[in-house]
Amino acid sequence: MSDNLITTRLRVLDMDCPACALKIENGLSLLETVERATVNLMGESVTIVHRANPFETDQFKSTIVGLGYTVDTNEPDDEKLPTPWYQPWKWSSDVLTLLSGVFFGLGLLFSMVAVESSLSVLGRTLPLFALFFLSAALTGGLLIFPNGFRAARSFSLDMNFLMSIAVVGAAAIGEFMEAAAIAFLFSLAELLERRAVQRARQSIESLMSLTPDQANVRRDGSEVCISVDEIGVDEIVLIRPGDKIPVDGVVVEGESAVDQSTITGESMPVTQRLGNQVFAGTMNGEGYLEVRVTRSSSDTTLSRIVRMVREAEEHKAPIEQFVKRFARVYTPAVTLAALCIILVPTFVFGGSLNEWFVRGLAMLVIACPCAMVISTPVAVVSAITSAARNGVLIRGGEHLEMLSKIRVVALDKTGTLTKGTPEVTDVIVLDGSSETEVLRIAATLEQRSSHPIAGAILRKVGSLSLTEPDHFISLTGRGVSGTIEGQEYKVGTADFLNHPVPESAAILSSEGKTVVLVGTDSRLMGAVIVADEVRIGARDAIRELRKEGIERIVMLTGDNKATAQAIADEVGLDEYRAQLLPEEKVAAVKELAETYGPVAMVGDGINDAPALATAAVGIAMGAAGSDTALETADAALMSDELSKLPYLFRLSRSSSQVIKQNIWASILIKFLLAAGVIPGIVTLAVAVLVGDMGTSLGVTTNAMRLARVKAN
Ligand code: ADP
Ligand code: MG
Repeated sequence: MSDNLITTRLRVLDMDCPACALKIENGLSLLETVERATVNLMGESVTIVHRANPFETDQFKSTIVGLGYTVDTNEPDDEKLPTPWYQPWKWSSDVLTLLSGVFFGLGLLFSMVAVESSLSVLGRTLPLFALFFLSAALTGGLLIFPNGFRAARSFSLDMNFLMSIAVVGAAAIGEFMEAAAIAFLFSLAELLERRAVQRARQSIESLMSLTPDQANVRRDGSEVCISVDEIGVDEIVLIRPGDKIPVDGVVVEGESAVDQSTITGESMPVTQRLGNQVFAGTMNGEGYLEVRVTRSSSDTTLSRIVRMVREAEEHKAPIEQFVKRFARVYTPAVTLAALCIILVPTFVFGGSLNEWFVRGLAMLVIACPCAMVISTPVAVVSAITSAARNGVLIRGGEHLEMLSKIRVVALDKTGTLTKGTPEVTDVIVLDGSSETEVLRIAATLEQRSSHPIAGAILRKVGSLSLTEPDHFISLTGRGVSGTIEGQEYKVGTADFLNHPVPESAAILSSEGKTVVLVGTDSRLMGAVIVADEVRIGARDAIRELRKEGIERIVMLTGDNKATAQAIADEVGLDEYRAQLLPEEKVAAVKELAETYGPVAMVGDGINDAPALATAAVGIAMGAAGSDTALETADAALMSDELSKLPYLFRLSRSSSQVIKQNIWASILIKFLLAAGVIPGIVTLAVAVLVGDMGTSLGVTTNAMRLARVKAN
């Protein structure tokens, strides 16, 4: 049955607590057609994997609405759905919590100083403090009861339901202060938790707020200022010095240093001129630019980053699944324990009902799994959001967790360790051919190639007019071939041309230069030597990687051994593997994984995509300009800076520590509190303050520390 599963995403509002996530997931999973439901708390959506069924969407919606949440009927992926800061519903719940607090305070005051004052209600005389406590229970309870009722209706063991019973029960047996305390403190805990979740959400939203709403566009020869949503692809946008760039596009006029740190995390501005790509949300410097729009405003690189960060939570870390399973057992078990605490001492040993009831309530509060459930996602979201601010994209908690386990890193050479913009340094001629002839043949064939080597050769020949080759073939990792004026030529590696590298060229390759042979099947005409510079900071980045616990760093390249050796020595690698075809890079990754455990592969995605996909974590470099890299890699460095690589590992290690601390601390605290409830050491107030509110806030605050992991 699993073959025709489909995925539906719905945008769900009002999910403010981790318990909501569990409730919706459980509720949807009960539907017959649903295979699996995953709530994305920070992204405010739910992803449902299910079998096709004509009524599915309505069914999902009514289930979610039945649990007390709102389904937004707009496109779930809509980028521009700002959460307004003023939400009447939320606002009134804050007021109710406040009122409840005031009543609770008055109740405490009167119970201490004015015990005697009383009022008669419905023919009964109640002390005044009791009335205040009841009012506190009622105002606080207004927030809890409706949710509790809905939960009861759908048979889910939910905190709102348990707390409703607790409040009503306590009031019924005359423990007014307890009833008030639970209602107020629980609604306060919910309020604070809501704030914490919103804060995490806002840090994602604030990434988006970097783009201006309006832009100056040239239309019919004059300049008009319009909303960015109305700008079409191919329109010309005018950008003045100091303006934020409003669109993704290509420079058609002007030159300016652009601060791209919002996208790439690079602190140094980058000079952008004719033909260069610029990104929405970056900051123009002193120059004036005209830019031809290449993407609609909802599809910019920045909005994709935001979307991915939002969706990242859905790729749950395995450790999170563990916590959820634990919570599913934990809550019923502790609830049962609470029941026993109330019933056993009272009815078996003749203890006082009121006393044991209050202890049972404290136990019920401890049954709340909130802190445990939230402990991992807040850390994951905090880490992924702060990484995005530093120009590093991580596609999900799953990858973040995997990164923290990596001990071996494989790197591609061209475009990864080197700049990927090589230059021709020498031309070697053999067998009576001329330099012009060798270059012309190479350039004619390379016109159709997108390999960095092709660029180098074409730059070298400059404006030389070239004919079109026939039967052109490009073989990834080997070279290009084609027919010029009836003669078949090949340009590429020694293997490809089936000729050994001539001695005069071999010397150059041991200097780290790449030898590109040019010839026919029977005749080697010469070689074009290209040299690519090793990236600035490559050596430092490799050294830093080792500090982050990476034990083995290996270069994989299609280039020949001598070149590979020279580069590997220059940057300080443990090992290199040369003359690899793309499929051999895949095999190398697999072999490294067998020997050393999970492998992270770093590449530019140009011809190492299969290897990136095979690795436990595929990391793409320079992803800002490449759509495929952005969409397919598990993690991406938006810039070309290798220094972001150690940061990525550092962040993943810190996250994994924070997650472990959060999980173990929340479990430990709950157990200690539970143990303290029975002898009466842990009172109800302590249970709510420490067990629920304190722990939730503690794990959230701990997670926020991840924003401080330094990127450089
Ligand atoms: P890397 O693994 O360093 O990224 P590639 O796999 O792209 O390198 O290419 C490996 C080798 O194949 C290059 O060093 C070059 O010798 C040869 N080659 C690949 N494509 C071309 C091309 N278009 N023109 C000439 N040589 C090429
Ligand atoms: Mg490459």
